[in-house]
Amino acid sequence: MTDILENKKILKTVEKILPEYCLCDNCLGRLFSKAKKGVSNEEIGIYLRKKTGFNKKIKPINCELCQGLSIEVEHFCKLILDYLKGYEFNTFLIGCKIDEDIIKKENELISFTKSEYFESIKNELNRNIGLKLEKKLDKLVNFEKPDIMVILNTSFDVITLQILSLFIYGRYKKYTRDMPQTKWFCKICYGKGCRKCNYNGKIYENSVEELVSKEIIKITKGTDESFHGAGREDVDVRMLGTGRPFVLEIKNPKIRSINLEVLKKKINSSNKDLIEIDNLRFSDRNEIARIKNAGFRKTYRVIIKSDTILNNEKLKKVSSSLQGSNINQVTPSRVVHRRTDMVREKHIYNCIVEMVEDTIAILSLETESGTYIKELVTGDDGRTKPSITEIIGSPCKVIELDVIEIKGE
Ligand SMILES: [Zn+2]
Ligand SMILES: [Zn+2]
Repeated sequence: MTDILENKKILKTVEKILPEYCLCDNCLGRLFSKAKKGVSNEEIGIYLRKKTGFNKKIKPINCELCQGLSIEVEHFCKLILDYLKGYEFNTFLIGCKIDEDIIKKENELISFTKSEYFESIKNELNRNIGLKLEKKLDKLVNFEKPDIMVILNTSFDVITLQILSLFIYGRYKKYTRDMPQTKWFCKICYGKGCRKCNYNGKIYENSVEELVSKEIIKITKGTDESFHGAGREDVDVRMLGTGRPFVLEIKNPKIRSINLEVLKKKINSSNKDLIEIDNLRFSDRNEIARIKNAGFRKTYRVIIKSDTILNNEKLKKVSSSLQGSNINQVTPSRVVHRRTDMVREKHIYNCIVEMVEDTIAILSLETESGTYIKELVTGDDGRTKPSITEIIGSPCKVIELDVIEIKGE
């Protein structure tokens, strides 16, 4: 204690404060906290009081700055420990909310002393509670990305938690032609339930999102979820091959250590014929942007039907015109209400004819991410150019469409 606290300026300041303010050792020491590392604020306070000859000890409860807060660390720890029961986490952070009156008094003292060494009471509490809980919980404080952020309102003993979402990456296959990727709320009631939607609140009973997340929310005891797919297929399009990448975000999970292999088996066995998931692993928020922006190339299998009889010659013309070329698509009329109306140039990597019979043909199409396949077939009243309808010279439509592969992941 003999070095920097011998500082005449500090001692002079202490002599100025103590006759004016009724401060506990902790609060006195905290005003000069940064002048001496490795000792507690209380120790600094005790030393300064002795050194300046103000020997009358002030109990924290009578301290006009902290009003007893300084000795409540143990009480706050108990409160938090109790509140965190049932939550699974590895790292945490404490954030205290301090009474306005105390902050005001603190600012008054800071400007009165002009001390450049002070530590705020908020900082001290966060630090002391954090250190104590690290030992009691055998878990670490993390400033950047804690699993749980504990916000303690010290005036009312009220705790709120900010829990880091749990992110799970995977790939899904969809085997049905009657299910959207994500929850599709009723346009009349927005999910509340009305006569129009048979009080389901939704247009489709199920979605990939719900089938995947239901069990995971149950196991993690999360409050909500958010499903992020690497693009999406239409409701009536199957997603086959190795599946489509997704990231599922579970909000406010209580349980974080889950067995993804067991989970996968459970989800797959209870949703046979509807969906199948695979490649599950833990992920983070950054991966959402990655899979959303990746622009994966896709292979489709499409069954088309023409108004006129088809033959090999007509289909050869389709594949030679499209293969390796670019098409221009104006935003399809069916989605223009929710997407920017603009022309998009898309590359067709491959167009292979698999079968032709009567008015039906089966094609395999490999296209750039974001190509609208239904419109490539129909032409969408000239909004997609060229189109299969245009090349064949009579109207064609899609009977069945499957995504066979999503490449590049
Ligand atoms: Zn105090
Ligand atoms: Zn409704």
